[in-house]
Amino acid sequence: MLTDVLWREGWLKPLSIESLPNDSCSVCKKDFENLDFITSCEFCDIGLSHDSCCNSHLIKSHIDQIEAKIEKHKEKKLHSFQ
Ligand SMILES: [Zn+2]
Ligand SMILES: [Zn+2]
Repeated sequence: MLTDVLWREGWLKPLSIESLPNDSCSVCKKDFENLDFITSCEFCDIGLSHDSCCNSHLIKSHIDQIEAKIEKHKEKKLHSFQ
């Protein structure tokens, strides 16, 4: 059984909380605190959430899309060997 990991690409981009569309996490509803890691979901527009909250949101709400992505990636890999 192959193990697939999900690499979320990104670089850190400091932002002040005043410039954000929402100042609390869309997933756990807690206010963002100093030096929290935040991100947005690539599959829907729930708004900003903690990085770790977004990871569980992705697995919970978008597992089908993620599996589709994994399949697509595997197909691509197959083709590059030909
Ligand atoms: Zn959260
Ligand atoms: Zn989402």
